[in-house]
Amino acid sequence: MYTRSELLDIVVIDGQARGIVTRNLITGETQTHAAHAVVLATGGYGNVFYLSTNAKYCNVTAAWRAHKKGAYFANPCFTQIHPTCIPVSGDYQSKLTLMSESLRNDGRVWVPKTVEMAERVRKGEVKPQDIKEDDRDYFLERKYPAFGNLVPRDVASRNAKQMCDEGRGVGSTGLAVYLDFADVIKRTSAEAVSQKYGNLFEMYEKITDENPYEMPMRIYPAVHYTMGGLWVDYNLQTTIPGLYAAGECNFSDHGANRLGASALMQGLADGYFVIPYTIGDYLASTPPKPVTTDHPAFAEAKAGVQARVEQLLSINGNRTPDQFHKALGHIMWEYCGMARNAEGLKHAKAAIQQLRREFWQDVKVVGSNEDMNQALEKAGRVADFLELGELMVDDALDRNESCGGHFREEYQTPEGEALRDDDHYAYVAAWEYMGDNQPERLNKEELVFENVKLTQRSYK
Ligand SMILES: Cc1cc2nc3c(=O)[nH]c(=O)nc-3n(C[C@H](O)[C@H](O)[C@H](O)COP(=O)(O)OP(=O)(O)OC[C@H]3O[C@@H](n4cnc5c(N)ncnc54)[C@H](O)[C@@H]3O)c2cc1C
Repeated sequence: MYTRSELLDIVVIDGQARGIVTRNLITGETQTHAAHAVVLATGGYGNVFYLSTNAKYCNVTAAWRAHKKGAYFANPCFTQIHPTCIPVSGDYQSKLTLMSESLRNDGRVWVPKTVEMAERVRKGEVKPQDIKEDDRDYFLERKYPAFGNLVPRDVASRNAKQMCDEGRGVGSTGLAVYLDFADVIKRTSAEAVSQKYGNLFEMYEKITDENPYEMPMRIYPAVHYTMGGLWVDYNLQTTIPGLYAAGECNFSDHGANRLGASALMQGLADGYFVIPYTIGDYLASTPPKPVTTDHPAFAEAKAGVQARVEQLLSINGNRTPDQFHKALGHIMWEYCGMARNAEGLKHAKAAIQQLRREFWQDVKVVGSNEDMNQALEKAGRVADFLELGELMVDDALDRNESCGGHFREEYQTPEGEALRDDDHYAYVAAWEYMGDNQPERLNKEELVFENVKLTQRSYK
């Protein structure tokens, strides 16, 4: 077990993954490890948006360094935005809190029917519980009578955004909708609701200082899960032989939507049922030659990692890694978030390139390498996010359609639903790294549907 170690590079010898380079987070020591094969299970990259429901440590570094060593990165622009999170409350927030999906079983989602009423609510002149039924718009129930409040996450999120864009959002920022339990409390009892959701209600009250038994919760969508990741084949092998990716760090299983599938289930399936067999098959059919960390490829990868650490420490600029991360997150959320369009994406691409240039001239990493140094850890991850962000934008720009977790405003039905273009975009976009500051090459893996017919989703 190597806890408190961060993987910072993959070692590839004769085209096969043969080891890793890590940094000890307590001592700063760079270490190398040789292996017959390498498995990455390093999670998703939702934190590229800075604010997300993910743990603060979640990052793309392991997958990104593998990408730069030759592993394709697939469908990076597909991000799942979860509809029921506690809204952003201020500039100094570093994380968003998820309110469980299960709440939509009983909670009813609504906003005031008119902009005027929403304004009065935002100013605190009217309390939500005092708004009459006739003055409320239960927009999911109205628009999707068959599914109501249980429409998939992408649909619920986009509709909440639309209500706020129309000026009918609530809360002090206007970026929230209500999730209301008054009906179920009336129909059953507060006690019954507490038995089902008591812990969540308590958490909500602790964070917002509002009692959801007495007034509706305020919720807003937040980045939650990344469907893109390292491209893998059926055996979970990346395009580097001997390098495997399991769980959220690969792109597989959930496709573009992950509308109802379980991420945890995928992680378990990958770890229990796939990897143990496919790695055995790889080792049996491609016996790797003996390799130790004395091989020059380890020294080279180690030197590269150390040089990068030294570079980050030597810049000594004026802005912290967090400041750059926040700025990147803002660009990603505004232009590559719940809704995207070509103009915004082009703007985002230029803005990210500019921010990346500034990062390498002006980042300030305090402390040293020989000690525990979270600023240094963050700086390395932010540097990788700054490259990934541009690829996400490129991927979103390439896909001239709307599809699940990727909604291009130019491509929607007259009712405002996602409009796919299966003739041109029924492929996995697998991006190939071509060198620093070079455009990545797009490889297309065609999606073949043998047993189902592709149709427009409808929740009406
Ligand atoms: C709030 C929340 C609620 C969720 N609820 C559900 C749910 O109800 N159902 C469901 O199916 N899914 C849910 N998910 C999604 C699911 O939890 C994740 O998709 C899943 O945990 C991913 O598992 P993983 O093992 O692939 O990655 P992770 O659990 O993210 O583990 C990755 C590990 O790798 C480590 N790591 C990362 N980079 C490096 C590096 N460079 N070097 C060394 N270590 C590294 C990380 O520290 C972490 O320990 C939820 C997610 C969140 C955030």
